[in-house]
Amino acid sequence: MNREHFNQANLPVFTTIDPAKIEADTVAILNTNRSKLKDILAQSQPFTWANLMQPLEDMSDELGKFWSPISHMHGVKETESLRTAYNATLPHLTAYHTELSQNTDLFNAINSLANSAQFSQLSPAQQKIIENDIRDFKLAGVNLPADKKARIAELQLETCQLMTKFSENVLDATHAFILPITDKEKLAGLPEQAIKLAIDNAKQRSMDGYVFTLDYPSYSTAMKFLDNRELRKTLYEAYSTRASDQGVNAGKWDNSPVMNALLKNRQESAELLGFASFADYSLATKMAKTPDEVLNFLQDLVTRSKPIAQQEYDEVKNFAAKEGLHDLEVWDISYYSEKLRQSLFNFSQEDLRPYFPISKVLQGLFSLVKKLYGIGVRQEDSIDVWHPDARFLSVYDEHNQLRAGFYIDLYARQHKRDGAWMDECRVRRRLNGKVQLPVAYLTCNFMPPVDDHEALLTHDEVNTLFHEFGHCLHHMLSKVDYPSVSGINGVPWDAVEFPSQFMENYCWEKESLDLFAGHYQTGEALPKELYEKMLAAKHFQTGLQMVRQLEFSLFDFLIHLDHDPVKPHFIQQILDQVRKDTTVIETPAFNRFQNSFSHIFAGGYAAGYYSYKWAEVLSSDAYSAFEEHGIFDHATGLSFMHNILEVGGVPDPMTAFVAFRGRKPTIDALLRHSGMT
Ligand SMILES: [Zn+2]
Repeated sequence: MNREHFNQANLPVFTTIDPAKIEADTVAILNTNRSKLKDILAQSQPFTWANLMQPLEDMSDELGKFWSPISHMHGVKETESLRTAYNATLPHLTAYHTELSQNTDLFNAINSLANSAQFSQLSPAQQKIIENDIRDFKLAGVNLPADKKARIAELQLETCQLMTKFSENVLDATHAFILPITDKEKLAGLPEQAIKLAIDNAKQRSMDGYVFTLDYPSYSTAMKFLDNRELRKTLYEAYSTRASDQGVNAGKWDNSPVMNALLKNRQESAELLGFASFADYSLATKMAKTPDEVLNFLQDLVTRSKPIAQQEYDEVKNFAAKEGLHDLEVWDISYYSEKLRQSLFNFSQEDLRPYFPISKVLQGLFSLVKKLYGIGVRQEDSIDVWHPDARFLSVYDEHNQLRAGFYIDLYARQHKRDGAWMDECRVRRRLNGKVQLPVAYLTCNFMPPVDDHEALLTHDEVNTLFHEFGHCLHHMLSKVDYPSVSGINGVPWDAVEFPSQFMENYCWEKESLDLFAGHYQTGEALPKELYEKMLAAKHFQTGLQMVRQLEFSLFDFLIHLDHDPVKPHFIQQILDQVRKDTTVIETPAFNRFQNSFSHIFAGGYAAGYYSYKWAEVLSSDAYSAFEEHGIFDHATGLSFMHNILEVGGVPDPMTAFVAFRGRKPTIDALLRHSGMT
């Protein structure tokens, strides 16, 4: 059968992106858009969807498609010339977006459509776009006097440059540090895979022996397993002082002035727009309505989890003391926690690794979504990618119709940004009667294959993969034909982590593990005994993990709520206070975690990091519907797909949730899944 498939002609060619042309090409597109906009606004009225909104949607989608592969390459394969071109171009884009969002004529045109008889005949998606636009115009200061508008535009530009600078400092500081080891005895305790990675890291740098880096797979394994306490301390110091005034590279890529400037800018913009703080401004587009609602939500979780965290911490301390260590320090916690886990459950994370070869995990993940949503996934080898590790895959619906596509790029390497994320390459859009199918990027930083066999994942990495694939599904299964509210677009930020965290639940069920866990040599399923150990260990240190997330969430929210420019060290002071109220572990004075907290200083989570926990209420409660009806139940799966995954940002998230669950969410399932009831 000849199935429809993706064509290179409709997808970016990454390998031919020429940094030298990026700035000029971007400016040319922006100028074309500017003159198109002029023509649109000069038309004889009335304004309609067809003569106003549709061309706007088209312009914005075309620009998005042009910029997406450039921005993606900047994240996964940065070169000096690409960084320079990216930085030179970003201000043009920011200026363009600000100009658009402050354009009074455009605002009046859209407003006139909103108040016309035609509005009520538009589809819910169309109405939602118009409503969001009007809200966003106001949030960009469209109604302000010219001098204030100009100031906001200036602040936007600066903020954008500061965020890029923050991210560059983190990347440079992370990659500047290496810890070379020549004496193999110093590696005692380290698992085989991690030793091989250290050898590969050395080879890549033409060095002998072993090299530890601050890339997460190298760092986290070392912290968990290295018997040598001094090395753990060295690594911890280097990691927790990245881009700061502390540690071996103190002052070299210090983000402190960047952070102060960012917070000052955000506060000033918020005030110009009539908000008391940036936190208040941030909530104008979120599910949560007031700062108190967020703070009470987080505080309630602190109250519930702090005593549990304290018990768990005491347990590690006592365990370390029995092992002869009486002054437990932060760089010992992962190490002794791992030993304690092994002694309690006779089980290590590393024991699971052989059962998660990447090909089996992906195949199982795809068969899971086939069961739930009836969709199929197939690899396409003829599509251009940016690195030998990257792949392109197509998604088919249950009638074998092509529905979406995605790129995956799974392993950590140099010149690739840290972490795991989903991003958009193409957004679903109807164009002259034909649908442009959505395409996603799924990027992770897993430990690369280190031997002659394929990559073996930890359970944490499997969890990350499922999470990001959840975001991809949200993007790819959208049935909304207008990019501004399709997929994750237009979804309030504190609901965006709902479909992603939902998927994580499947990493813990034997039935689903049997789909994607199989020994890389024998193919043997995950033994029941090992599964039971894994399950018994599921809630190990769940309180400590919870308070850590709450510490990040409260810190983020409070620095954006109580900005105090008079106090030069207010960021550190707020962090210290939050730690005092929330955590149970003493943090060393040199720790500058905040200086690499990219989520809030270089990403979209400013005054929104709480979104993870907020959305987990939704994802846990939604999953409990599957616990009730069977975790693969197709009818429940279809209902989840139709009510949540397909609807993009059209209905408000609460309405969508109620349509699926038949009632509003409660916190019960989250507490149960976290082992806190
Ligand atoms: Zn996520």
